[in-house]
Amino acid sequence: MTKDKTRTVLIIGTGISGITLAEKLAGPRFKVFLFDKSSGVGGRLATRRFEEGKWDHGIPWIEPDQIKPEQWALWKHLLVSVPDLSPKRFIASEGLTFLPKKLSEHQVIHKQTKIIEIKEGQKKSAWVILDEKQNQFEGDLLVLALPAPQAFELLSRSGLLMRLSWGSKLTEIEYRPHLVALGKTTASSTSLWELTPQPPFELILDNGRKGVHKSAGLFTAYLDESFSQENFERPEQQVVSEISSLLNDRYQLQLEHLELKRWRYSRTKKALKDLFLEGLLSGPIFFIGDGCANGGFRGALLSSCSLSEYLIDAPGF
Ligand SMILES: Cc1cc2nc3c(=O)[nH]c(=O)nc-3n(C[C@H](O)[C@H](O)[C@H](O)COP(=O)(O)OP(=O)(O)OC[C@H]3O[C@@H](n4cnc5c(N)ncnc54)[C@H](O)[C@@H]3O)c2cc1C
Repeated sequence: MTKDKTRTVLIIGTGISGITLAEKLAGPRFKVFLFDKSSGVGGRLATRRFEEGKWDHGIPWIEPDQIKPEQWALWKHLLVSVPDLSPKRFIASEGLTFLPKKLSEHQVIHKQTKIIEIKEGQKKSAWVILDEKQNQFEGDLLVLALPAPQAFELLSRSGLLMRLSWGSKLTEIEYRPHLVALGKTTASSTSLWELTPQPPFELILDNGRKGVHKSAGLFTAYLDESFSQENFERPEQQVVSEISSLLNDRYQLQLEHLELKRWRYSRTKKALKDLFLEGLLSGPIFFIGDGCANGGFRGALLSSCSLSEYLIDAPGF
């Protein structure tokens, strides 16, 4: 491959890793297309509207040591710090999905496009990917910016897993499940903020007090790992009613609304040290995200920044 030819890059996943990679590759050398099964972008940087306000229901905030200084320089106009909190934590006053939305606003994104199969290209393109409606997209480079189990499933369904030297490495990556309760209470924000969570709650945050516009009284309660594990498959109504009773008995919260969000893969418990995984079949194929670079949000970001530097600098691409 030569540097003067435009390469088409297909990135599956619009979480922070996919979007950061797309943003960094943007320019004359790479034509980038992003795909996500969801109707929005951001993956685990997730915000949900409710009435006038919003709940952040994925990662609660971004910590300073999760961002490299050069990345911070690009993001600082999009984020604000949570008032009166030490050490500092960053959020977006429109909700955390504002960050990936802004970062990707000039990208070509196919939303509600679940990729179900990858094929090796026969003629002009190295890769062909197919969605559930049998739409086909072609490209020269393929990047899986997904949680490892989803990348594993896609590769194995496509008959490619065993042909990649790193295919089995994906099984070394582990995630914890997370149940997250999204509620509305009549309690004042201040009293909610002052709650010291006891198990099974690990964090209870009032989105308004955190700094999300018009979201006072809309709280996000993060359940701990053992509760999340034990209750993950139970019917929603039963879990909601158990969490309601706990919030009521412990904190005397008067609930107007409560619903549940289940994350089967939330944060990494075990990740690879590799910055990204690289393979070559009919064309180059990469795996990035929080499964790499020691995991977490920091790892997801580091992984995508590392791949972008590699693709931009390596003579072959
Ligand atoms: C509740 C919660 C709390 C967390 N707390 C912390 C924390 O305290 N500290 C920390 O470091 N990290 C935390 N995390 C993890 C952090 O959010 C992630 O590490 C990071 O956001 C991962 O980004 P990513 O781009 O690698 O993956 P993702 O954000 O998961 O992006 C992957 C995207 O791929 C899409 N996708 C999947 N399969 C397909 C397919 N077949 N076709 C098309 N699209 C597909 C998904 O819809 C998703 O948008 C938390 C996560 C959650 C959910």
